[in-house]
Amino acid sequence: MKELVIVSGKGGTGKTSLTAAFAALAANHVVSDCDVDAPNLHLLLAPQVEKTEDFIASKVASIDPELCTECYACKESCRFDAISEELIVDPILCEGCGVCKLVCPVDAVTLTDSLSGYIYTSATEYCPMAHALLLPGEANSGKLVARVRQLAKELAKEKGKDLLLVDGPPGIACSTIAAISGASAGIVVVEPTVPAIHDMERALQLFVHFQIPVMVVINKFDLNLQKTKGVEAYCAEHGVEVIGRVPFDDVMIQAVVAGKPVVVYAPKHKLTQALRGIWEKIEERLAHHDS
Ligand code: SF4
Ligand code: SF4
Repeated sequence: MKELVIVSGKGGTGKTSLTAAFAALAANHVVSDCDVDAPNLHLLLAPQVEKTEDFIASKVASIDPELCTECYACKESCRFDAISEELIVDPILCEGCGVCKLVCPVDAVTLTDSLSGYIYTSATEYCPMAHALLLPGEANSGKLVARVRQLAKELAKEKGKDLLLVDGPPGIACSTIAAISGASAGIVVVEPTVPAIHDMERALQLFVHFQIPVMVVINKFDLNLQKTKGVEAYCAEHGVEVIGRVPFDDVMIQAVVAGKPVVVYAPKHKLTQALRGIWEKIEERLAHHDS
């Protein structure tokens, strides 16, 4: 099975709109939304949830007042100031490190699982989908991304699919690394602006580091032709293929408002024709990659 990860150096480049379009154009595939800090793909693919699992990423401490002898060893040892003068643990500040349990002389501290989010298996009009929701204030998004990818692969195997499309997180944080490591190929979506080009460079370096073939799609290329040339020149110099240029068009925004991939919302539109052409080229490239 091939795995194609779509990322961007920063948020707001249209990555999710393009992923939704490709999800509607691809065949025999599964899609996963690994942008777990700000998931949006469900707004365009309208998944019907079939299965939900809890995501437990950490523990939280609590103190049994019946057993506690008020020695304050736990409070003095807590590096996160999570234990109050009244010896009550603040679940928001507690990092679940377990030091308080270790130092307590009377075993009055208990560590319990803390719910960090939910992972979903869903059906969409276009393909099966794995996605997630990280609860507000929760960290460990890299761990959640790894679990969503694993679930998507299991789904693909179970349903006999040969392609996994991943909407990856923007930026180059650990959640992005969790989304791209081990993938067959990647796409970096970039807009022709000064910061976007800088962010694209960093995203490309991640793929180079993990030795994953990578292509670039320039979104809204006609908003700044000079910067588009800059992106193309950078890519040519570094041996990265610009697989497509997507023009700016209001129809993309209309499709988002309608909650549909643009290729479904406006099947005969010139933007859809451009996206079809880009997807065909991506499929060709994927066919030539080894894994
Ligand atoms: S588990 Fe760690 S962070 Fe939480 S209260 Fe105990 S020492 Fe503090
Ligand atoms: S270390 Fe144990 S006994 Fe001491 S204050 Fe904390 S919970 Fe109570």
